Amino acid sequence: MSKRPDIQSLIDEIAEAVKPEFGKGKVADYIPALARIPGDRFAMAVCAVDGSEWRTGEALRSFSIQSISKVFTLLLALETIPPDELWERVGREPSGTPFNSLMQLENERGIPRNPFINSGAIVVTDAIAAHSASPVPHLMNMVRKLAGNPGIIIDEEVARSEEDHGHRNAAIAHFLKSHGNLRAEAHRVLHLYFRQCAIAMSAMDLARAFLPLANEGVVPSSGEQRFPALRVKRVNSLLLTCGLYDGVGNFAFRVGIPAKSGVGGGIVGIIPGKYSICVWSPELDELGNSHVGTAALELFTRKTGLSIF
Ligand code: GLU
Repeated sequence: MSKRPDIQSLIDEIAEAVKPEFGKGKVADYIPALARIPGDRFAMAVCAVDGSEWRTGEALRSFSIQSISKVFTLLLALETIPPDELWERVGREPSGTPFNSLMQLENERGIPRNPFINSGAIVVTDAIAAHSASPVPHLMNMVRKLAGNPGIIIDEEVARSEEDHGHRNAAIAHFLKSHGNLRAEAHRVLHLYFRQCAIAMSAMDLARAFLPLANEGVVPSSGEQRFPALRVKRVNSLLLTCGLYDGVGNFAFRVGIPAKSGVGGGIVGIIPGKYSICVWSPELDELGNSHVGTAALELFTRKTGLSIF
């Protein structure tokens, strides 16, 4: 609170300022467990590399992290298999197509554009599944440690629902398999993919878990070099270019930081050398990014004058 800028006052002010934006987006409704979340929820949590933390709204309430999990699985895959092996199977370019598109995958013969669209994330998940006998505990262990919260769980209702309604993802997995870009059995990879999407975390958990990405890979509280600095630079670059589905250009224009969104309404952003920020608000814009969350992050970077540009 004694810091400059005064982050607590700022995020409280932002929570007020975004109120007129509620009702303009739409809560994800492809599964009932997400469709019933009230649209007017809001949370913001900020962690600083010096260990300070701030929060406003429902920052301790868990929500479905959905595609934000793709960052955790990418980080896990990059320490599980040689990076060159992974990058032969998935690209590093923005897709310009919806996150669950099959069309581009067909044109590009089963090599997904990047690890943050569903097809790319399914390849990344496959890389983990092919190298671990128990990939779910492996992933959960990583997530819990990063967030410093052993109580983080998978929401089983969401996981089941994802599985029951995941026809497009199943199509993507089988399509990848037909192109030789899936090592494990499709049903095994999908089981893990649906479970990673169903991890429930709070905004505070997510801001804490992402803090090493703002600190060249070092966990500030312990001094541990959790990820190599070069890997962090690369993952942040991918977040900047691919982290917001096909809304990534507009998000970069408005907010100007690497970030990852999920259809549960969460967005986690990184201000390198300074902060990790998570905002949660479930109403989505037409591209699947939190409408109010984007507005809140835009206000944050404008009012602090902090972005990567
Ligand atoms: N479970 C969702 C899907 O795979 C995640 C989408 C997202 O958050 O982008 O369709």
